[in-house]
Amino acid sequence: MSSSSKASVQTYKNFINGQWVTAASGATFPVYDPSTEEVIAQVASASAPDVDQAVAAARAAFDSGPWPATTAQDRGKVLYKLAEKIRANTAHLADIECRNTGKPIVEAEYDIADAATCFEYYAGLANKVMGHVNPVPANALSFTLREPMGVAAQIIPWNYPLLMAAWKLAPAIAAGCTCILKPAEQTPLTAIQIANYFEEVGLPPGVVNILNGLGETAGAALVAHHGVDKVAFTGSAAVGKIIVKSAADTLKRVTLELGGKSPNIFFPDADWEAAVDGALFGVFINQGEVCSAGSRILVEKSIYSKFVEAMTEKTKRIKLGAPLERETKMGPLVSKEHYDRVSSYLEIGKKEAKVAIGGGRPKQFGKGYYVEPTIFYDVKNSDRIAREEIFGPVASVIPFDGESEAIRIANDTPYGLAAAVWTRDIYKAFRVVKSLRAGIVWVNHMQPTYVEAPWGGYKQSGFGRELGPWGLEEYLETKQVFVNLDETPIGWY
Ligand code: NDP
Repeated sequence: MSSSSKASVQTYKNFINGQWVTAASGATFPVYDPSTEEVIAQVASASAPDVDQAVAAARAAFDSGPWPATTAQDRGKVLYKLAEKIRANTAHLADIECRNTGKPIVEAEYDIADAATCFEYYAGLANKVMGHVNPVPANALSFTLREPMGVAAQIIPWNYPLLMAAWKLAPAIAAGCTCILKPAEQTPLTAIQIANYFEEVGLPPGVVNILNGLGETAGAALVAHHGVDKVAFTGSAAVGKIIVKSAADTLKRVTLELGGKSPNIFFPDADWEAAVDGALFGVFINQGEVCSAGSRILVEKSIYSKFVEAMTEKTKRIKLGAPLERETKMGPLVSKEHYDRVSSYLEIGKKEAKVAIGGGRPKQFGKGYYVEPTIFYDVKNSDRIAREEIFGPVASVIPFDGESEAIRIANDTPYGLAAAVWTRDIYKAFRVVKSLRAGIVWVNHMQPTYVEAPWGGYKQSGFGRELGPWGLEEYLETKQVFVNLDETPIGWY
């Protein structure tokens, strides 16, 4: 049983060693529906003793029992079955995700489908991990074995809860690691839900543990724990820095997928309609709660005014509404805390730049953490709204004069997650692509993400890569094996 009912609000437990367990302290934390501001669940709040228990379970499952004996093919089959279960339960999982995050139901359905695809991808990759034979002299044989890194602590944010869980769990399982996944406190519900499938798909107890709790307690204890070999983190740069410092004490392997302030660059020769759409999609999808949001919109001066006008006109069509309504294109922000944070940036923006549209709370909602899609223009790249990650539906439009100025402004940021460039000129497009300091660069699009292609940042957007074979690499160690073929003694002493 994953839960018990308390006055119609369910209380969920943690999933450790194949069992649903209450927190050692008995504490729970509330989970909200951001469109109604109501509590929809209570969840066990883990602290150090629960972390110890989860790490012990993951450690034992890694060191002994059925998991180390599984073949890569077996692990692939487990992942296929998990993908199938998720796909078969898309409607249910999307409903939970939609209520818990506030994202529109149609987007939630895409997220669940993408999560299933991610498990399928790594199902196929599991038995394609191979070592090398190394070209050493003829009197020796040297080859490499690729081995699982061990126990992975995986800490994820609230903007794509199940999808981020899939990006972390799927490659780790394929590699043969064991996992402790800590979802964000705001959005634990879909990860809890998929734990119900683990036994049926053939995951032995302890291989994947779902540990809920607050970042400063459960998250911090996991990162510092001596029994953890690797930390995979997605979240803010501020917490990423705390994690690196803590993990340094035990020299854990760390991968970080952090935030961004990504430039979306528009030249006059771009396809006009596609460009205006792309500017809005780049920054407003998922309420702007996207690490790769194209929140700095760089527009060449000759089209600048007309482009701001066109963006403004099209923004009027964005339908804000209840997340479960299928026509809704933008729901509320995830939490009161985040609503207050984004609202404070709206006030900062009004002082720094001009408002083309939005800038406040939409009048039609009595409840819910809704924010108007907002476009600031005549923004300077030195303004706070151009430098700091807002993580909401807030665009900062910045004019530029020519290609080299566009590149200079685009790269003038501590972040380097993503960027996009819009032009029909193939020479210009690839010159700009090569000049941008970002881990992902789109040409004439912004945001498509495929499991086959790497994802991750330059600079303060993190290090390591997720997805594709790169994502699997991050869960593997390389062991070099040397075999002496020369029977004569070394003869050194
Ligand atoms: P946070 O960094 O605040 O939190 C992320 C996770 O870290 C949560 O599970 C949180 O727990 C946990 N955490 C918080 N403090 C600690 C700590 N001291 N030690 C260990 N874990 C901790 O980010 P948000 O949840 O606010 O997510 C938004 C951020 O994530 C944005 O900056 C965004 O850009 C980034 N992001 C990056 C992506 C990428 O692929 N590059 C993808 C998605 C988001 P809890 O919430 O329970 O406190």
